[in-house]
This record gives sequence, structure tokens and C-alpha cells, in this order.
Amino acid sequence: MDKNRPKIVVSSCLNGENVRYDGKPVDDFLARDLSKYVDTISVCPEVSIGLPVPREPIIVVRKNDSIKIVNPKTQEDFTERLDEFSKTFIKNLKDVDGFLLKSKSPSCGVSRTKTYKNENGTGFLYRRYGIFAKNIKNTFKYYPVEDELRLKNPNRLLWFLFRIFTFSKLKSIKDIEELKRFHKKHEDLFSLLGKAYLKRAEKILSKETDFKEIKNRYIENFLKSSYKLPSSKRLRKSLYKTLQEKKFSDIIPKPVLEMVEKHHKEAQEDFKETS
Ligand code: SF4
Repeated sequence: MDKNRPKIVVSSCLNGENVRYDGKPVDDFLARDLSKYVDTISVCPEVSIGLPVPREPIIVVRKNDSIKIVNPKTQEDFTERLDEFSKTFIKNLKDVDGFLLKSKSPSCGVSRTKTYKNENGTGFLYRRYGIFAKNIKNTFKYYPVEDELRLKNPNRLLWFLFRIFTFSKLKSIKDIEELKRFHKKHEDLFSLLGKAYLKRAEKILSKETDFKEIKNRYIENFLKSSYKLPSSKRLRKSLYKTLQEKKFSDIIPKPVLEMVEKHHKEAQEDFKETS
């Protein structure tokens, strides 16, 4: 592993491994292309607890205030094993900059996993997360955590990449002068996070305390303030403008930016065709 590259956890099936319940591979361009520029740690929670490929599908069931993972045909309960695996995996995870997980999965799903009322798969309630993703989100609060479907939105994709590459760069900074230079150089880019963010960052940088503490607070401020994708139309437009003006190029590698730009163009063309 190259310590200057971001390190992200990727669902094994997105990484081209044949681990899915139906035994069919997923060819995800993003995970495939990204793996040239970031280091990936593959994980398949279901295979890791000993489930075979192929296997019967499992589902998420809500019971009182917690969730259960069961096989709707046999009602076999996998909750404890998957939960335990997730906790051990997280405990052994040394240093990571983000997560790219498989959408809709009862284990890895970040936001669109179907949740049911009954163990036999009836009584659809809502779409939320799988058990592994839930553990990740609870432990790595404010970290970049996305799924491949959400990243089909080019703005979200750019934001995710901006967050993981910036997070990784910030961690490698060695002293206060370097951090101040980094902040100054990218002020324009960081202004996407708002004036209040810049004020807080400057206040943190002006403190005369231990560098490690300043850096941790600076990173925390960055992660919290960039947690949500800028939502207004104006901000989303400025995100694209910033991409065109190459302001991300010192943080995100050029070929990765070209990939995002290609997606922006395709999305705009799709929009023109459908409007
Ligand atoms: S979504 Fe997660 S649990 Fe399901 S096959 Fe992919 S890596 Fe394994």
C-alpha cells in the first residue's frame, strides 16, 4: 500500500469479486477506475461469516427499535454473526479515508436497503441501511461513506472524491506551517464549504496549542462541514464551475477529474434529452 494514496474500504462485489448471493459479478466502473488511484480494502461481510456463493437472499427486518437480518424462506437469523463480524472488522481497521459500499444490500447498503416488518419479507416499511453499513456509519461519523448508485450523481461523485483525497492529504501534513500553506492555497476551494467554515478553520489555525490537536480539530471541522453535498442549485453550479476551472487538480489526480468531468457531460446531455 502507498501511504500517500487514500485508502478506502470497498464492498468486494464492487471490486469484481464473485461473492454475490446470485453468483453474478457486478462490473462497477467507478470501483474499477478508482482502484488505480486509491488503495482499496475489499470486504464481503456475508461471505466472511461463512455464507456460500450462490446463496438464498437475506433481508432486513425491523423489530421494535433494532434491525434483524434473516432468510425470509427459512427465517434463519444472521444478525448476531453479521454484527459481530462488522464490529471486529472495524476494530482491526487501522486507518481509512472513506467507504464505497454496494447499494441496496442487507449488509452493505448505505441508504436504499429495503426494510420489512415481518421475517417472511412482507410488510415493506422503508429503505435504509444494511447492518454492516449501519456499524460503519455509527463508528465513522462524518467520514465519506457512499454507494455506487448514489455516486451516479456526478456532483456527489466529485464531492466524495474531494472529501477522500483532501482527508488523506490532511492526514499526511507534518507541521503547522505546512497546514497553513495548504489551507491558504486551497482557500478558494474550501470557500465551497461556506464562510462560517473558513472562519472556524482560521480560528483553529491561529491557536497556539499542540500541532496534533490543531490538525485533529482542523480535520474534524473539514469532515463535519463537508458531510452533506452542497444542496442549493447555486452551490451545485459552482461545484461544476470549480471542476472546470481545475481548482481540484492539486488535490484530486487529473485522470480521476477527467473521469468526473466525463460524467458531468453525460449527465448534462441526459438532462437535455429528457427536458
Ligand atoms: S453487497 Fe456486501 S455482502 Fe453483498 S455480496 Fe457485495 S460485498 Fe458481499
